[in-house]
Amino acid sequence: MPEKYDFLIVGAGFAGAVSAERLASQLNKKVLLVEKRNHIGGNSYDYYDDAGILVHKYGAHCFHTNYDDVWDYVRNFGEFNNYVHRVRTYVDGKKLPIPINLTTVNSLLDKNFSEAELKEYFESVRVKLPKISNSRDVVVSVVGEYFYEKFFKNYTFKQWGVYPDELSPEVTSRIPIRYDTNDRYFGDKHQGMPKEGFSKLFERILDHRNITLATDTDYKDVLESVKFDRIIYTGPVDYFFDNIYGKLPYRSQSFEFETHDTEYFQEVAVVNYPNDHRYTKITESKHFTYQKHSQTTIVKEYPEALGEPYYPMPMESAKKQYELYAKEAEKLKTVYFAGRLAQYRYYNMDQAIKCALDLIGTMGD
Ligand code: FAD
Ligand code: UDP
Repeated sequence: MPEKYDFLIVGAGFAGAVSAERLASQLNKKVLLVEKRNHIGGNSYDYYDDAGILVHKYGAHCFHTNYDDVWDYVRNFGEFNNYVHRVRTYVDGKKLPIPINLTTVNSLLDKNFSEAELKEYFESVRVKLPKISNSRDVVVSVVGEYFYEKFFKNYTFKQWGVYPDELSPEVTSRIPIRYDTNDRYFGDKHQGMPKEGFSKLFERILDHRNITLATDTDYKDVLESVKFDRIIYTGPVDYFFDNIYGKLPYRSQSFEFETHDTEYFQEVAVVNYPNDHRYTKITESKHFTYQKHSQTTIVKEYPEALGEPYYPMPMESAKKQYELYAKEAEKLKTVYFAGRLAQYRYYNMDQAIKCALDLIGTMGD
């Protein structure tokens, strides 16, 4: 006879793993966590490559949050360093700070603007719009066409396969525009990287006697053989419903790793390439971890139309299609949909964690 579980959890990324941990330790529930990949951690998974360097398998993952409860929670499972994310973007032969700030503008235009002068300059070039309807509007309404073209237009096309005017405002709104010299990528209250990496953090999150983990397992293959009361589902929502309303659009990515015989390849962890190459960025993960090593590994990120679903498409048409699935999901009283793929939202890691904490928080005993 198969054992009976209180919950079947699908997916061992942050949404699934944190749900499992909270159910197991806070509510003393028995959980079966199934993951179709051969590892835990979802897209936040990292590992030591052949050279012995800690790298992120699915692209650069930097932890940042404004949620105090999320920050307190993750630090129960490992120490975080004080890494602050800084990004450069390669435009017209120069590596400039992004988000666009005073230094970016002065370097690109060969000017010496003060903060007040920069505000005046942007005021004179910005496109005055009655309303912000898309991701192009977000940018041109603050910095005008020139900066939009150099920094956003082509990067976004590479990343999403469409230009910013077809994407919801929330996409480019993620990147602030600054008038001072602050070059932090994220404005969040808390940021840092797990000192031993994300995968180690996940191992500790899942280290509980009430949690049974099965990797290399698609949940549909165990539905008949396992007994459980409720499901927490963190995989793609369309797959759950057998694509009854058609496959939702996702953006995928491929990753090309290179190890170099030099201590550091570039001056910061991430350099973006909006207008050159087919890849969007080069990431060098040693900057995240402060790992000492005579070599370094970099990864080039190539956005792809097909492949693993990494990004929900932030467009109105896709959101409308998702709403059909969301209505089906609402009808199911013993299945909970949580996380980036299940809720079809452009979540960061902290939002996936928050969603799990809040979900289990509402369950009580
Ligand atoms: P996931 O991590 O995707 O986990 C879902 C899991 O479900 C996966 O492991 C999947 O294999 C499993 N699964 C799916 N279907 C099934 C099935 N049928 N059966 C069993 N298992 C299944 N966030 C940040 O905060 N900072 C960053 O810097 C950052 N950078 C990113 C860079 C890239 C390239 C990408 C793609 C994402 C990035 N993110 C970043 C977002 C971050 O990856 C997500 O917010 C986070 O992974 C969401 O967690 P999740 O648990 O919802 O989903
Ligand atoms: N973006 C851009 N140029 C950049 C950085 C970002 O055009 O140099 C746009 C692009 O559309 C991207 C979005 O802003 O998808 C959000 O960027 P972010 O770095 O938050 O994306 P992530 O890689 O974290 O999903």
